[in-house]
Amino acid sequence: MKVLKGKLTGYCHGVSQTLHKASSCLKTAKKKNLNCYSIGQLIHNRDVSTYFEEQGLKIIKKPEDGEPGVALIRAHGITCALRRSFEDRGFILEDATCVNIKKTQKIIVDSYRHGRTIILFGVKGHAETVCLQGTEDPSKPGKSVPMMVLSSEEDLENLFSSVDSSTPVTVVVQTTFPDEMYGKLFDAVSSHYPDCKKGNGLCYACIRRKQSAIDLASSCDAVVVVGGRNSENTKDLAKYVEKNGSTVFCIENKNDIDSSFIQTLKEKNIETIGVCSGTSTPPEVIEDVCECLKALN
Ligand code: SF4
Repeated sequence: MKVLKGKLTGYCHGVSQTLHKASSCLKTAKKKNLNCYSIGQLIHNRDVSTYFEEQGLKIIKKPEDGEPGVALIRAHGITCALRRSFEDRGFILEDATCVNIKKTQKIIVDSYRHGRTIILFGVKGHAETVCLQGTEDPSKPGKSVPMMVLSSEEDLENLFSSVDSSTPVTVVVQTTFPDEMYGKLFDAVSSHYPDCKKGNGLCYACIRRKQSAIDLASSCDAVVVVGGRNSENTKDLAKYVEKNGSTVFCIENKNDIDSSFIQTLKEKNIETIGVCSGTSTPPEVIEDVCECLKALN
């Protein structure tokens, strides 16, 4: 099998930072003889998360879930209220919130202070969306900045009926929000509100991975997207490959290259296959997948 690897694979800088800080949390916890936690699943990769859990990292959602110890805030970040509740209970926090998300929080606070209404495009319930919804102006602790959250075009009607068109608005977006929906929503919102400012943008690491997936889709018979099943950017990559007319396989690691996978390759006469990945996929997992595919006749 001819295998082409995408130009950009492996961890984004937010995930790299999370893993680096998870290791240092484990060291600190060991030194201080404390428990070590990640607030929410470490990254969207089961194998890596399991590895850290085996080293002693426990997953918790709220401070009541464990005895105070060292707790990692992963790349998606957490709400200001949740951060306070961990601190109040005596947890030592290590903050791995991605710089892109910190930047968005700052835009939210600055825009709010300038009297603008915040509109957030985000997948409802996604950890990053929840984190951004819980942004507080440091001068008003305990009160989240009010904002409207839009996930799809169905939410526009509610926005237009509750926020007057003369209102100055700032649009911020979950960094891994599907970009097609982002475009549609932004066009609709900016046409309705003459004073509409774009706050942040989609994550550049994801945009570049998407381009890489599209390039593979145009030069291969099929593309394998390697990444966590619950990762938004992995799901988005798969959609892009399909949209560009290529067969797509979503797998988590080489173990998913099983007999039914191989059978499908044969049925579809796949001779050249591309490999791309989400931002939480370890480089060695991608290499293993490439090697496994190359070995197929
Ligand atoms: S995908 Fe982008 S925004 Fe999310 S953690 Fe990685 S670099 Fe940060």
